[in-house]
Amino acid sequence: MFTKQKPTTIPITEIEQSAFCRTDETLDVKPLAEEFSASVRWQGIPSEYLHMDGKELTARIRNARNLLGDRLTILGHHYQREEVIQFADVRGDSFKLAQYAASLPYAEFIVFCGVHFMAETADILSNANQKVILPNITAGCSMADMASTEDVIDCWNDLENILGQGGIVPITYMNSTADIKALCGRNNGIVCTSSNATKVMEWAFQKGERVLFLPDQHLGRNTALKLGIALEDMVVWNPFKNLGGNTEDSIKNAKIILWQGHCSVHTRFNVNQINKAREKYTDVNILVHPECTMDVVQAADYNGSTEYIIKTVTESPPGSKWGIGTEISLVSRLAKENPDKLIFCIDSVVCPCSTMYRIHPAYLLWVIEELINDNIINQVLVNDDTAEQSHIALERMLSIV
Ligand code: SF4
Repeated sequence: MFTKQKPTTIPITEIEQSAFCRTDETLDVKPLAEEFSASVRWQGIPSEYLHMDGKELTARIRNARNLLGDRLTILGHHYQREEVIQFADVRGDSFKLAQYAASLPYAEFIVFCGVHFMAETADILSNANQKVILPNITAGCSMADMASTEDVIDCWNDLENILGQGGIVPITYMNSTADIKALCGRNNGIVCTSSNATKVMEWAFQKGERVLFLPDQHLGRNTALKLGIALEDMVVWNPFKNLGGNTEDSIKNAKIILWQGHCSVHTRFNVNQINKAREKYTDVNILVHPECTMDVVQAADYNGSTEYIIKTVTESPPGSKWGIGTEISLVSRLAKENPDKLIFCIDSVVCPCSTMYRIHPAYLLWVIEELINDNIINQVLVNDDTAEQSHIALERMLSIV
């Protein structure tokens, strides 16, 4: 029995992506009440936190974290805003932060300033007695939201019906829910990051003839092309169509089935922006994230993960010029920390990741002040079976990279 056509839905996180795009302002923090005026659907918070300005929030967060001392560790993803990242004990991409969380047996509370799937991974990898907290529980990820558990299970059942058990190896990008990681763990599959996707895909092709790549079609396509797989050998699975919009034969003939998901931030970049940057600065280096579309990645000089982008720019010679295609908070920070280089975002519209942006410092203050009162808010807890199966998929990745 194959999946039927379903009504198309767009995650709220995707709809809100452009709510904070600006052309004429900086991204300096505003009181939370002003952010709410953009009609966003963020978590409710006690009213005393709504009107505090950046200065008051900074002073109170500093005070609260001093009171908690070693009991608290704050982790900050590179895409977080300045007013939040300044409090991070460690900055990193999702995997580096999750690994760090696993190496912190003394920290009772891990406040994860990132998005929901990252906090889930930290919970899976940390000790059972540690509590992982996401300051704003509505800080999801539009890409992860594009692969719901129900839709992925339907897809997997259809693929097994057509290809038989073991006919396909599932790979999920780190940017997916724990449920999807667990599905990969249960079915001889694996997790990947944007740093190790190539090695992981090579591993998968040693295990089977075909790969289902979730949830980012662009990272999947860009990685497969690097391995020499032709576009004709890839099909896209649209979860709202019968058989993902494919025929049984096209699925049987494919080497890669790409889930139709994308990152709302990285798909804003286009070749026109690259051309304009090259017209303005003939010696500019274009560096983009592999979540960008295939044409953007191919038009760039370099592409790689967030950590790769940071390393490449930081180690480049003084005077070099960098047009970058990744999240604006990171690009702005790189420009500030490397004043001897010209660093700019290839998109002239300032457009932060709207879900990372949900970690407003007022939420950070709220959750850590409540910890002082022994009140845990927004603990992210993955159930035992899901954690165990996700762990298997994560361990497989660690064993090969
Ligand atoms: S940048 Fe893209 S993939 Fe990363 S959290 Fe934001 S929406 Fe998700």
